[in-house]
Amino acid sequence: MDFNSTNNHQPSTINLIQRRSDFPILSREVFGRPLVYFDNGATTQKPLCVLQTIERFYREINANIHRGVHKLSEESTREYENAREVVRKFLNARKTSEIIFTSGTTASINLVAYSFGEVFVHQGDEVLVTEMEHHSNIVPWQLLCERKGATLKVLPFDSNGALMLNKLPELLTPKTRIVAVTQVSNTLGTVNPIAEIVRIAHSQNIPVLVDGAQGVKHGKIDVQQLDADFYAFSGHKIYGPTGIGVLYGKEEWLERMVPWQGGGDMIATVSFAKTTFNELPFKFEAGTANYIGAAGLATALNYYSSIGPDIATAYEDELLKYATTKLKEIDGLTIYGNAPEKAAIISFLLNGIHPYDTGMILNKMGIAVRTGNHCTQPVIDHFGIDGTVRASLAFYNTFEEVDRLVEALHKVKEMFG
Ligand code: PLP
Repeated sequence: MDFNSTNNHQPSTINLIQRRSDFPILSREVFGRPLVYFDNGATTQKPLCVLQTIERFYREINANIHRGVHKLSEESTREYENAREVVRKFLNARKTSEIIFTSGTTASINLVAYSFGEVFVHQGDEVLVTEMEHHSNIVPWQLLCERKGATLKVLPFDSNGALMLNKLPELLTPKTRIVAVTQVSNTLGTVNPIAEIVRIAHSQNIPVLVDGAQGVKHGKIDVQQLDADFYAFSGHKIYGPTGIGVLYGKEEWLERMVPWQGGGDMIATVSFAKTTFNELPFKFEAGTANYIGAAGLATALNYYSSIGPDIATAYEDELLKYATTKLKEIDGLTIYGNAPEKAAIISFLLNGIHPYDTGMILNKMGIAVRTGNHCTQPVIDHFGIDGTVRASLAFYNTFEEVDRLVEALHKVKEMFG
């Protein structure tokens, strides 16, 4: 396959195809065919600059941060704190003290569910999530509600996979302590109207946590403009390394929350009688931080910014439109998630063919998709199905790759026909 060939599907304004060569893994073959990587919702591939940052750090700098007086520790600390500033700028947060490094979205949400929940959620209170949340944005709240004797309430979505926003005002009560909502559904692709949800919740003084795991790579993020109280994301879903993530929180909330893990770095003083805690953001960063992951994430965010989040998203939108049209032409194929605002995530089923079988055959043809419930069992239950096949696209995917998927799906149908 010649990815550099001009083809008539390409959008006239954007050409990101040359950026493919930044990703070494994309040139590998799977079962004798060029890899088609359509599993970006699960994790994205890493550009060479990210790999180089990690290698350089281990080769030339590596030392534990914050505690050392020696040169390497000082350099390590500087890289780590520089990474925090890169994240701050990327999210347009007001202060670096509002940027907490975690191991990923899951850890960020658990942090808030514990540390916010401990202070602000009591017996009889309510927490509101939506029907399209990833398990990571359901289970931590369930654990909190069980611990505190609070109730978990759910905002449903309609048959197209769009949140039923008209039901939001009636679900918010004087007992609602927080709303936790995903920016983009990892199964349906739905892009939720976060600013609107925040506006409605704030009109009743209710804070909002946004799960940005998928949304962080969907256009420019500006937490001040969104006015979200918390924003969580994972490095590995935005071309960065695994094991590093971010929790953005407004200082006014973070200051009032209790630490969620105890250990080194998060303390100011320790005695057996009493421990006092470090200032923000360190209060929430117990133990040796993933400082090399943070540096890798900073490189990834700088790389993504150099492409332009809006440009990458506009290209992905073109790919989505093309893929949706082509998939809809396949007889017996159903797409789950047809909301008017969608990111480049397509969940589908071929009539009468188990998603796992489809995924296995696509794999043999070098095409990586995900099958199953995508950690969103309530979404799958909503449609009364076993799971879906999910193709999730990134800016390094091409129109030719979509054609290969379509061709492969015709073969799957023939095999099961
Ligand atoms: N939320 C959403 C919407 C996701 O798609 C994912 C991962 O797929 C997560 C949360 C959890 O992310 P992580 O496993 O990186 O913590």
